[in-house]
Amino acid sequence: MTPRTLLLPLLLTGCFEDSATYGDGSGTGTWTGSGESNGMSQEGCQDRTRTCAEIRAAFADGAGDFELDCDEDAGLFTVYSSGVPLYDSNQTTPNGIADQGWQVTWSLTATCADGVEDVTSSRGEIGMTVNGIPFYGPEDGQGRDAIVYEGPTLDDCNGHSDNRCSYHHHNEPVCVFGTSTDIMDRAGDDGHPPVVAFAADGFPVHGVDPDDPDGAELDDCNGHQDADRGYHYHMTDDYPYTIGCLAGQDRFTAISSGAADGECDNSGGPPQ
Ligand SMILES: [Zn+2]
Ligand SMILES: [Zn+2]
Repeated sequence: MTPRTLLLPLLLTGCFEDSATYGDGSGTGTWTGSGESNGMSQEGCQDRTRTCAEIRAAFADGAGDFELDCDEDAGLFTVYSSGVPLYDSNQTTPNGIADQGWQVTWSLTATCADGVEDVTSSRGEIGMTVNGIPFYGPEDGQGRDAIVYEGPTLDDCNGHSDNRCSYHHHNEPVCVFGTSTDIMDRAGDDGHPPVVAFAADGFPVHGVDPDDPDGAELDDCNGHQDADRGYHYHMTDDYPYTIGCLAGQDRFTAISSGAADGECDNSGGPPQ
């Protein structure tokens, strides 16, 4: 399997759905994509190749339990992460947070696809933050708006833990640089929000733009391009919160060992 191979889904896994076969050591990711554009489109996508220096500069050392490996000869970068944040997020989800043994590999070159892939009804990870935490689409395991229906379970850092004890986000990871650092403290000189994540297709995801918090100026994927950064996505305060579709043709290889036996306390059950 190459790093650009789309992992086939073994089962549908949402935030609080049954996950009997997850974490069984099979070493699989959980993302399930639609493979369909569903009438969505992007505007201005351009292929991008990054150096390892650029990738390293984007990641948030100290705010996550991860290691970044980058190989320009191979044209790949890989994040090894426990998926456990290195800060107290004032967690409100009844489920615990356990080491998920993430190994996520992207191409250094993000390549535009002929057509986009709708991820609004996806389950599982559709990208990873720059402190090694997966982010999901806008729906919970029951296909509802996760922010509306699961909002009370999100902690001060906009994260929560599913019944696999896998901590994740459905909207802007506000503590991605640590609980004491405002994302906009890392903004560019022009006020453009910094990279907070990389999507499954390798294009970067920036924080919410204070000048366009609802994404009115963005395409269906929550993306746009500018001369300095090329094509990229933004988190938004409104649906779809992270990204709506993937404009690129490649997909990361996201592998998780899942929580070790006995390490996931999910006895709290699904919150309502
Ligand atoms: Zn969730
Ligand atoms: Zn932008």
